Amino acid sequence: MVIPNRAKSRIPVSVILIYGMVGLVFLGVGIWLVNDLITSRSSIIAERSALAVQTSKFMSQQFGTTIITTDYVLRDVLTKVTVAELDLASSDIAVQKRLSAFVREKLTTLPGVNGLGFLDRRCIFVAAANETLVGIQSNSQLHVAPDQVLENQACVEYIPATKSANKQPAITVSRPILSSEGYFQGGALAAIMVSSAQDWITTFNIGEYDTMTLVDEDGILLASNPPKPDAIGKLLQSPTVQPMFGDQRDSAAFIAVSPLDGRERIYGMSKVENIPLSIIVGFDEAHVLREWQQRVWQSWVGFFTLLILLGLALNKELETLAQRDEMQRLAITDPLTGVANRRQLILSGEIEIAKAVRYKHQASVLMIDIDHFKSINDTWGHPTGDRVIQSLVNGIVPTIRKTDVVGRLGGEEFVVVLTCTGSEGAFMLADRLREFIERSVTVKSDDGSQVCFTVSIGVASLEEGSTTFDKILGRADKALYDAKHRGRNKVVLA
Ligand code: GH3
Ligand code: MG
Ligand code: MG
Repeated sequence: MVIPNRAKSRIPVSVILIYGMVGLVFLGVGIWLVNDLITSRSSIIAERSALAVQTSKFMSQQFGTTIITTDYVLRDVLTKVTVAELDLASSDIAVQKRLSAFVREKLTTLPGVNGLGFLDRRCIFVAAANETLVGIQSNSQLHVAPDQVLENQACVEYIPATKSANKQPAITVSRPILSSEGYFQGGALAAIMVSSAQDWITTFNIGEYDTMTLVDEDGILLASNPPKPDAIGKLLQSPTVQPMFGDQRDSAAFIAVSPLDGRERIYGMSKVENIPLSIIVGFDEAHVLREWQQRVWQSWVGFFTLLILLGLALNKELETLAQRDEMQRLAITDPLTGVANRRQLILSGEIEIAKAVRYKHQASVLMIDIDHFKSINDTWGHPTGDRVIQSLVNGIVPTIRKTDVVGRLGGEEFVVVLTCTGSEGAFMLADRLREFIERSVTVKSDDGSQVCFTVSIGVASLEEGSTTFDKILGRADKALYDAKHRGRNKVVLA
């Protein structure tokens, strides 16, 4: 039995179980944490989306009320004129004045609406609250309609500054008077200046990076909060995600990167009822998720700190186990040769002989001593002497079985306990070993010379009257003494 240089540290089952369970708990906590963070993120976004839709709905209803009221007034004023009067008004100043006064008074009943007027069949203003418009042709859709069959309904559209009668961008609401065949005969038109819509939209409070916009059916920006004067009248459609106006839904939620500032927002969009306009409310995603993001960081920092602590504890545990194993190994090992030390040799020898007695097996003991070792030390020096001792062990170990015990009794004296081996086999093995060492084992001295050496071996076996390790060892010692006396480099059987 040669004791390996570093005893393999076997991790106790209790340690594996405890750390395994803690590891599993950590894995579970990790999975739960990821799942929890994903679901909480989804629910925050869902909540915000709902809020965005709700807010946009509320705003579109409010804006829609203004448009519906305006249309109601348009229908009302159209009942008060005839096509003949409209045809006459362009040439008859009295009719024109009367109609203008009429619409001026009606306009006062429409808060948030900036202009109101009558159009004749050529789509020219024949009367208006702002009389400077009289005689100007309207650019509303009605203008292109005279030779088309129209539907008897309000028409809401965005008129850019370049086309606007008063040179200011506006949202117009108009109603035609139709002939029985459906052709345009004249009509009434109300205008909400984009600046008014802008004033209205900025009355709502919003967060720092949030937005509210009024867009037309093509995605053209009509008003925005915070104000973006440069973007008014421009196409703002985010083509990949923003629901098109043709969509059947009245409202929708979506997440998109704003084409205006590149920030990702959670949007809610609602159509203004029956009118080709929409309100879009956007909450800044980074802002919405800020607290969640903090939670992610805190959770992971906590989790990984605990994981590192667990790793450190496990590492410490393994280190302690390795140290303990190493101490145990050192306590039973001869430091020069790595075989069992005297204490361990006697212990193992006693155990092996007791086993052999119990199971009625044979057993033998070799006591090996280097001849004239003193003079090796004296001639070549102690370090060379140490190497001679080591080379003796290197010669012994391959000749014996794994189940045999080899140990250093002291100095240059070694003992081998051969299990299941009788005196004859032991003698043969000892003699082979002696011969091998004499013939093949050499050591290089410090000055480079080859140092040869021989050993004497005493052999004793387990037999009646000699059934303890101590007794057999004593007889082997005597046999060794004999071998020395007979001239050394000899094997003597007790
Ligand atoms: P013999 O043939 O009768 O055995 O003669 P010997 O010179 O070998 O005599 P003995 O066995 O009494 O010599 C033991 C010597 O071994 C004494 C001591 O100086 C030396 N010695 C003991 N332990 C060590 C060691 O670890 N290293 C070295 N180099 N020498 C050792
Ligand atoms: Mg000796
Ligand atoms: Mg000796």
